[in-house]
Amino acid sequence: MRLLLFISLIFICSTGFGQVLNVGILRAYDLSKVKISHDKGNYQVFGDSIELTTIWKDQSIYASRSGQKIKVEKAGKVIGLYDTVFVKATSQDANFQIQPVVPYSKKIRKYKNDLIIIPSGNTEITVINEVEISNYLAGVIESEGGGGKHKEYYKVQAILSRTYVLDHLKKHRKDGFSVCDRVHCQAYHNMLRYTPTIEDAVAETKGIIMLDAELKLADGFFFANCGGQTSESDFVWNVAVPYCRSIVDTFCVKSRQATWTKTISKSSWRSYLVNHFGYPDKDSLFGRSIYSFTQDTRKAFYVAPQLGIPLRDLRIKFKLKSTWFSSHEEGSNVVLHGKGFGHGVGLCQEGAMGMANQGYSYEQILNFYFTDIQLFDYFHWLFLKQEEVVGL
Ligand SMILES: [Zn+2]
Ligand SMILES: [Zn+2]
Repeated sequence: MRLLLFISLIFICSTGFGQVLNVGILRAYDLSKVKISHDKGNYQVFGDSIELTTIWKDQSIYASRSGQKIKVEKAGKVIGLYDTVFVKATSQDANFQIQPVVPYSKKIRKYKNDLIIIPSGNTEITVINEVEISNYLAGVIESEGGGGKHKEYYKVQAILSRTYVLDHLKKHRKDGFSVCDRVHCQAYHNMLRYTPTIEDAVAETKGIIMLDAELKLADGFFFANCGGQTSESDFVWNVAVPYCRSIVDTFCVKSRQATWTKTISKSSWRSYLVNHFGYPDKDSLFGRSIYSFTQDTRKAFYVAPQLGIPLRDLRIKFKLKSTWFSSHEEGSNVVLHGKGFGHGVGLCQEGAMGMANQGYSYEQILNFYFTDIQLFDYFHWLFLKQEEVVGL
């Protein structure tokens, strides 16, 4: 626990503006040169500890890899070569713009707070957004699906996203930052188009995290739509997550992704089942059921558990929206009628949106989808952990 506290305090240091986090951005590119400008506030540029220049309105700088250093250029002139370049906001509401130059992309992203640029690999640069956690969470929520949803739903997203990031502060330590901007961590593709509702939801749940019954940070697993029942976690991952139990959910069943149909040729269905799992197609009992399967409630295996054919494997092989389907034969095809979209473990997003629209609070929504969880203030939790350490 002492280690946990130590790590947390290292990664969440406090600036004049609040708690900040280092996020590796533009990770989809193997970057060696970027263009930096801004559309709000001004930015000062530092090379190591030397103040180099200010980026005023309508100005920009370029940062690129040069040998083992970062080269900074402005208005066609080289300013110098540095180990680390800092681009720092001079006001809290400032935001910078960054565009990949090598490799080129016309996409310009916008971020709040500061930027750090360091060399990486043999020829690349790593760009890091040093961002207040609240701004990061708003960016993640925006990336996850944008505007137009109920504030209580955004609060749910804010708590799950905050819990995740605080539980994964070391995930990219070897890369020089805490979390990346891809779905590997949490998608964070800022355009700063989010509505004030998202910012309010983040502010109104400030510091709140989700803990399991043992007061450990809980992974807030989620997916698009459960189709009316969420899945047991061990059906999907072979491990039981105590706070993710299967529940009946009526809040999502009228949503867009509640049902699906897929037609697959009998020959490819049969050959996968027989060749991959040794399905007993000559067996007088099971031979008849190779195409017909009924799943009234969610199951883990196709036809019968003793055949050992996990539905999750069929989902991956045939790119099915979910494991919750029934099947029958039609001519030369097998037709699947399925419910839900996603792995089904934890929070059903369309159900949670339905609950929010019907007036349920974020506490009610989280307690509906997760079992025996507690909502807690992060620093209070760290303090209790510290007391535990002292008590030992
Ligand atoms: Zn990552
Ligand atoms: Zn659902």
